[in-house]
Amino acid sequence: MKLTNRAANINRDPMTFGEKIYIPAIAKGLSITVGHIFKKKATVQYPEEKRPFSPVFRGLHVLNRDEEGRERCTACGLCALACPAEAITMEAAERKPGEEKMYREEKYAAKYEINMLRCIFCGLCEEACPKDAVYLSETVMPTNYTRASFIYKKDDLLIPHPHKQESK
Ligand code: SF4
Ligand code: SF4
Repeated sequence: MKLTNRAANINRDPMTFGEKIYIPAIAKGLSITVGHIFKKKATVQYPEEKRPFSPVFRGLHVLNRDEEGRERCTACGLCALACPAEAITMEAAERKPGEEKMYREEKYAAKYEINMLRCIFCGLCEEACPKDAVYLSETVMPTNYTRASFIYKKDDLLIPHPHKQESK
């Protein structure tokens, strides 16, 4: 009795002379190889050549600044709360007088870390953020050799200051 409907009948007849000399089989195999030489290649020459990303691709996180270059994050913790992988940790601090040009809100993230080894790139942190402060870019996370190098700190995540770039 057949256990599945995928059983195949095997031909157990003795090999013919043509099958014994293997030449027709070799010629058939070579014709398939030669046929593939002229077909469009499925492989790409990565990293020089890259495939286009899917419109829903989510890559490395970025911490955003406002138009004046101030950090948008107010350390509310909603991204960490929304994160199903518990990959985000932060420490809040109060903005001091004179720091208005650095931080947009009265409270800011003195420490902000994402453990990329935990992250599943679901994008829920981006959706939870009320300040448009964190979003997932199209950058593929680079590989590395140590676990510690996958803990991205605030300085690794913050986008460059727009005015500092202009002055370069
Ligand atoms: S993308 Fe998902 S898993 Fe990664 S830090 Fe954001 S909420 Fe957590
Ligand atoms: S990134 Fe957004 S959600 Fe996360 S702590 Fe900062 S302001 Fe809150």
